[in-house]
Amino acid sequence: MKVIEEASWLRHELAAFRHERIALVPTMGCLHEGHISLIHQAKKLADVVVVSIYVNPLQFGANEDLAHYPRPFAEDARRCQAEGVNFLFHPTKLYDDAGPAVTLRVAALADGLCGAHRSGHFDGVATVVNLLLNIVQPDLAVFGEKDWQQLTIIRRMVHDLCLPVDVVAAPIAREADGLAMSSRNRYLSTTQRQQATVLNQVLCQMHAQCQHGEQQTGVLIDAGRCLLHQHGLDAEYLEVRDENTLQAITTIGQQPARAFIAARLGNTRLIDTTILRESAPCN
Ligand code: AMP
Repeated sequence: MKVIEEASWLRHELAAFRHERIALVPTMGCLHEGHISLIHQAKKLADVVVVSIYVNPLQFGANEDLAHYPRPFAEDARRCQAEGVNFLFHPTKLYDDAGPAVTLRVAALADGLCGAHRSGHFDGVATVVNLLLNIVQPDLAVFGEKDWQQLTIIRRMVHDLCLPVDVVAAPIAREADGLAMSSRNRYLSTTQRQQATVLNQVLCQMHAQCQHGEQQTGVLIDAGRCLLHQHGLDAEYLEVRDENTLQAITTIGQQPARAFIAARLGNTRLIDTTILRESAPCN
């Protein structure tokens, strides 16, 4: 595995592999089994795997955890090496000190859910992912379904900018008790770690109610909020939306309906999502 810090050097190295299939797995590091599952997916689908580790300042708000975001680089590099990653791209910085003059914004999709609580976050995500795709020019790039809104925004950006890359989605990797894996889980105290399992329990309850015929999303959401309160938590948001358009759904019908949750435990913000109803099969 080669560890590379310069974009131009990575391009130079990759020039020798352009006749092979190249996959990119963009991350912010502090790798866990969720990231590793993305790497496995990439290895299955491509000959050459590039993992990027970059804590992107553009996607952090003023009061967020940019300065404290965990950066265990040596351990991350060891894991990438063990997983057979070919190139680990670890830029010290990607933009001029004043930041990029050109930024991207994916309208509408970026406004609700996390976008409503993290102003500018998805502009930062779209800008850096576009930049990484331009640097690496991969045949495919793998993203986790855990960040479903991000995945939807990236799909739309790739579509609208006609970027020559396949966006591959990887399922959510979870701890044994259902908690979605996240680099931020390490911030949780023992008590918060126990409380955190309720996020997935809320989603499972909504899924079960939906399976039993409940179609009113208001009913699902009220019951979900109730369960959260029993565990001493409040949702930042708990919503049901069309998983492609991210439009709110009030009655579950033919549309592919997905539940989204975000909650704060102390200073740590966690998100999770699950499908409630797949789209109706076409005849
Ligand atoms: P991050 O390092 O948090 O920016 O995440 C990098 C990539 O890993 C993104 O595509 C995330 O959606 C994905 N990811 C993070 N956590 C998980 C998880 N638990 N399961 C699957 N993918 C994940």
